[in-house]
Amino acid sequence: MAEGLNKKELEDLKNRLVRKPRLVWDTLSKAEKEAVFEFAEGYKAFLDRAKTEREAVQVIEEVAQKEGFKNIKKEETGRKFYRINKNKSIALAVLGEKPLIQGLNIIAAHIDSPRLDLKQNPLYEEVDLVFFKTHYYGGVKKYQWLARPLAIHGRIVKKDGSELDICIGESEDDPVFTIADLLPHLARKVQADKKMSEAIEGEKLNILVGSMPIGDDETKERFKLGVLKYLNEVYGLVEEDLFSAEIEVVPAGKARDIGWDRSLIGAYGQDDRVCAYATLRAICELERPGRTALALFIDKEEIGSDGSTGIKSRFTDSFLSELFEVKGEKGDERSLRDCLLSSMALSADVNGALDPDYQEVHEKRNAARIGYGVCITKFTGSGGKYGSNDANAEYLGLIRNLFNSHNVIWQAGELGKVDEGGGGTIAKFLAIYGMEILDCGTALLSMHSPFEIASKADIYMTYRGYKVFFKNL
Ligand code: MN
Ligand code: MN
Repeated sequence: MAEGLNKKELEDLKNRLVRKPRLVWDTLSKAEKEAVFEFAEGYKAFLDRAKTEREAVQVIEEVAQKEGFKNIKKEETGRKFYRINKNKSIALAVLGEKPLIQGLNIIAAHIDSPRLDLKQNPLYEEVDLVFFKTHYYGGVKKYQWLARPLAIHGRIVKKDGSELDICIGESEDDPVFTIADLLPHLARKVQADKKMSEAIEGEKLNILVGSMPIGDDETKERFKLGVLKYLNEVYGLVEEDLFSAEIEVVPAGKARDIGWDRSLIGAYGQDDRVCAYATLRAICELERPGRTALALFIDKEEIGSDGSTGIKSRFTDSFLSELFEVKGEKGDERSLRDCLLSSMALSADVNGALDPDYQEVHEKRNAARIGYGVCITKFTGSGGKYGSNDANAEYLGLIRNLFNSHNVIWQAGELGKVDEGGGGTIAKFLAIYGMEILDCGTALLSMHSPFEIASKADIYMTYRGYKVFFKNL
């Protein structure tokens, strides 16, 4: 016992001084619990329709139009606008009462996810079976992609310039595709005795797409020809069309509830469509904010944000300068820069939740936990915060107080032990503009796997957090 303090006084002291992580489920009223489950239904429907960045852009545009957002390239009156960048990124804005030069409230999520991309010369036959060759996109554990049903999504630009969107393997009567794995009886030397990272080679991630020949023994590559004949008859394709294509192989199937209590969601692509969906819902429910709200749904995060549709492209600047124009404010170079410098942003991205079976890779005091609310990550990077945006204390204070005063349950998260690994998000690329930014999103189990897991309670708190950020900051 500390000197002079009785049991009750110590209890009071503890209540006043010690940080108390809050489990979202413990804080919810019956009505709020219903709202959590209802929100999850909309989210699952979004996941099922938006399994690639292109599909996400289409769904987000559709929702935005329904909610009164106008394409800024076509209409210039109103308060809600959007712009699309090459079918793979989209930005939504709601103009605020305050001048733009005072800064925006920005939430930026990414809509690409780890997957297998077809190579540009993908089709071949081997021992009388037909395959597509792939090159994986983003950080995948390759063994997770073997021996499971896969779907093919993507866009093909044909010889005549016309565009064909395909999505095969998602509806009940579609065929699916797969990568065959080696039987355990023969896997000892070539797989089991190797390091896990070397056991499955990238060049062996080949998608099985057919096995029925045409012609006879004399016909060269008659199995491959059979698939080409089918692709030609059904889609009007010739082999070279696969060169001008972006075809993404993703796990087939829909988002599912997990557990007897249905408290979790399992699905492909929750990194980062969970934050994308929460952002979309938050901005769609926003009317007349003080500061202008900007929601960015960005491609290419999983491969380092490079490329014309990644956050490093100047798409944000262009959309912003159009916003100055439609708002009737002077949008010279200096004003644009000042606007961005005065902006406040959330890098809406997921974090890895404490894994019960691998607690040793986490530092438990600072690891995000499933069910403890939206996760705020001050810094990312690895090996001494290298390559990280490291958010400012003043900004952390602002967001913490904002969330606390609006009953948004939040937790602090760090991606793994100090020397264990790490990762990056788009935060550091938006930070280039000098804006305040921190990472804020949902914690996942099985992150980057074909079936990622999130808590419905955390998903809902992510949305609540984003909503107050847009509305009340
Ligand atoms: Mn992410
Ligand atoms: Mn990721």
